[in-house]
Amino acid sequence: MFQVTYLARLGELTLKGGNIKEFENRLVHNTRVYLESVKARVQLRAGRMYIDCPEESCAAVEFTLSHLIGITGWARTHVCEKNVESIKEAVMIEALKAKQEGAKTFKIETRRAEKSFPLSSYELSCEAAGDVFDQKILSVDVHNPDLTIRIEMRERCFVYSDAQKGCRGLPVGTSGKGLLLLSGGLDSPVAGYRMMRRGMKVECIYFHAYPYTSSEAQKKVEDLAQIISSYGIETHINIIPFTEVQMAIRKLTKDVPVINDFSTESFSTLLLRMCMMKTASILAHHIHAQCLITGESLGQVASQTIENMAVTEYACTLPLIRPLIGLDKEEIIETAKFIGTYDTSILPYEDCCVLFSPKHPVLKASIENASSLFDQLNADALLQEAFEKREIKTFSAKKYVEEHYT
Ligand code: ATP
Ligand code: MG
Repeated sequence: MFQVTYLARLGELTLKGGNIKEFENRLVHNTRVYLESVKARVQLRAGRMYIDCPEESCAAVEFTLSHLIGITGWARTHVCEKNVESIKEAVMIEALKAKQEGAKTFKIETRRAEKSFPLSSYELSCEAAGDVFDQKILSVDVHNPDLTIRIEMRERCFVYSDAQKGCRGLPVGTSGKGLLLLSGGLDSPVAGYRMMRRGMKVECIYFHAYPYTSSEAQKKVEDLAQIISSYGIETHINIIPFTEVQMAIRKLTKDVPVINDFSTESFSTLLLRMCMMKTASILAHHIHAQCLITGESLGQVASQTIENMAVTEYACTLPLIRPLIGLDKEEIIETAKFIGTYDTSILPYEDCCVLFSPKHPVLKASIENASSLFDQLNADALLQEAFEKREIKTFSAKKYVEEHYT
C-alpha cells in the first residue's frame, strides 16, 4: 500500500539528554496530527523520522514536512534492497532525472549507520557511481557538483538527492504556551514563528476597532493566523472589540489635555498599548499562557523606544517576550518571506493604532506620567468587558491539510 518513503533528519532535539524521548514523542505526535486525514505511517528510529505513504498522499506529506518544526531537513527517497545492483538502479534514476533538468556533474555521499554491509562508505559510493560515470550521463565533481546523491544504509537502504531544508527548532508543545499579540503587520507573525521554533505553543489575540478598522483588516489577521497554525499545529485567534477603549482614550485626551507639560494626546498610542497589554494579560491567565509575545523591535517606531517599551511592559502581569527586539526590518522581512506571511502582511488595510495615532507621539515617556494617565483612564471594567465580548476562531494545520490535500 505504501510506495513512497520520506526521510526526515531531526534537529536540535537530538542534543537533548535524558528527556530526549519527550521531544521525539512530541515530534511524532505533531507529524501525525498534520496527517490525520491522509494515509501515511510515521515512525521514528535512530535519529531519523520516516513517513511511508501512497503516491496520493505525497502532497500532504510534503506540506507537512516543509512546515513541521523540529526537523533540519527531509527528502523523498528510493528504498532499495541492500545490494549494489538495487542501489545502482536508484542512483541511475536520480542521475537521469537531474540530467534532464540540466545537471552536468554529480557526487555520491554514503552514510552507513548500519555497518554490516560488506563495502565501506567510500567503496559503495564508487560502485554506485560506476554506471552513471561509465555511460557518460554525468561527470564526477566532488567539490561543487550540480547533483549530490545520498545513500543511507540503515535498517533499510535509502537513496535520494533532492534534500529540502526543514524549519529546525524544537517541536511545538515542548516549551509551554504563549499569547501572541497579532496585528496585521510584518512583525508580529514573525515573532510568533520565532517562539514556535523554540517549541512554544502560540495562541493569538487581535484588537479590532470596528468600524475604524475594516473587516478586511480583520480578515487579513485571520489569514495570518492560518499561516501561523500551519507551523504551530493549531492556534485560536481571540478577536477583542476595542472601539470603546479607543474612544475612552480619545475622551481622556479631551478631558485632561495636559500632563506635566506634555499633551495627553501624545500619550494616546502608549495608553492604547497599555490597554492591550492589560487585556492580553487577562486572557493569558484565562487560557494558562505563560507569557505575552509582541513583534516589537527596538527603535522601529515611536512606541518602541526603550523608555516607551518600559511603559508598555508596566501594564503586563506576565513576562513579555519580544523575539524581534534586536532584528532589523530586512531580517524580519526575510523570515516573513520564508514563512509565507509577507504577501498578506503588506496588504494595505490599516490596523487600529494607525488611525488613532497622535501627530507628535511622546518618544521617551516616563512611567509616572503614563501610569498616572492610565489610572485616570480607569479602564479596568472596560477592558474586562472587551475581554468577555471576544470572538474566538480556530485555525489548524490538520484542517488545512484535510481541505487542500484530500
Ligand atoms: P506589526 O508589524 O506586528 O503590526 P508594527 O511595526 O506595526 O508591528 P506596532 O503597531 O507598534 O508595530 O505594534 C507593536 C506590536 O504590538 C505588534 O508587533 C503586535 O505584537 C502588537 N499590536 C499592535 N497592534 C495590535 C493589534 N491591533 N492587535 C494585536 N496586537 C497588536
Ligand atoms: Mg502594527
